[in-house]
Amino acid sequence: MKRLYLLLLILFFTACATTSSGHRGIGYGSQDYVYVGDFCKKHNLQYDFDTLDDVVKIFSKEKDIRLILNSNIVYFNGSTFGLTDSPKYINGKLFVPRDLEAKVFSKEPVFYKSIFTIHTVVIDPGHGGNDPGAISCRGMKEKDLNLKIAKYLKEELEARGFKVILTRDRDVFISLQGRVNVAKRNKADIFISVHGNSNKSKRLRGAEMYYLSPNRFNSQERALKLTKEDNFCSGRINADTEAILWDLLLTKNYSLSVELSHSLYFSFRNMGFSVRPPKRAPFYVLRLAYVPSVLVETGYLSNKYEEKWLRKESYQKQIAEAIALAVVSMNKQYNNFASRNKQL
Ligand SMILES: [Zn+2]
Repeated sequence: MKRLYLLLLILFFTACATTSSGHRGIGYGSQDYVYVGDFCKKHNLQYDFDTLDDVVKIFSKEKDIRLILNSNIVYFNGSTFGLTDSPKYINGKLFVPRDLEAKVFSKEPVFYKSIFTIHTVVIDPGHGGNDPGAISCRGMKEKDLNLKIAKYLKEELEARGFKVILTRDRDVFISLQGRVNVAKRNKADIFISVHGNSNKSKRLRGAEMYYLSPNRFNSQERALKLTKEDNFCSGRINADTEAILWDLLLTKNYSLSVELSHSLYFSFRNMGFSVRPPKRAPFYVLRLAYVPSVLVETGYLSNKYEEKWLRKESYQKQIAEAIALAVVSMNKQYNNFASRNKQL
């Protein structure tokens, strides 16, 4: 009898221990979530969450999992796949969809492959023809600056073995759809739109990088309204623009666009440029190419000091080099990632 009592007691505590160390799922809508801390503890993983860029990294020696808040795409050891829902940040705590566990710890073999190698880069010098973009008080037109930097960038990238196509190589107007078509036709791996910035506040300066935001807008109307409000590059809203405002499709391009914008940010920073952390943006040109896309604002034409630099050929070349190095760095990162996983 005593023995049976002891056994029951052990069973009771075992059950309690299992419960308390198990996952604390939360009901969030119809989905089942797990607190990221519990998930990591259970599987002996570490995690890092950067609230600035909404990127969640969960890792160990063997596992490299990357998620983005509000995106249901996950990277795992070189492969991408979709989850039932996206990670959520609630009351200062991060939760991941429960099916992440099944995907990552699935008994099915995972085929490691290089998921992303950059071969072809489409560079899109903003504006052109009857659309000058921003104009500095000394008369420098953004369309000309964009084209010069784009051409230097082409040289820099070609010297590093990339295939490069410009959406325009002279002073002509090209519709947004036309720019997108160039990327599609050439099966671009990445799309870089090059612009110059301008603001009423003449003090603003520095480079900026933008990637598309699938979660900031919940309707085309709102996106259109914000595009009008932001209007960074004297972009006129026309039927063309409206037609290709993003439809909030989440694709792996979003994650790659975020990574590319970060790679650009660090490259600019390493080269000593004044640069702000990447932002989400309502720029219509970003969504469209169906490839990872970023928009680089190389500097403010409205800032006297920066404009002086932007006019200089040597400075334009340095900007081109910074962008090229960012592309190289991103490519290297993915290649290393892929080859590391091949060895597993
Ligand atoms: Zn512009």
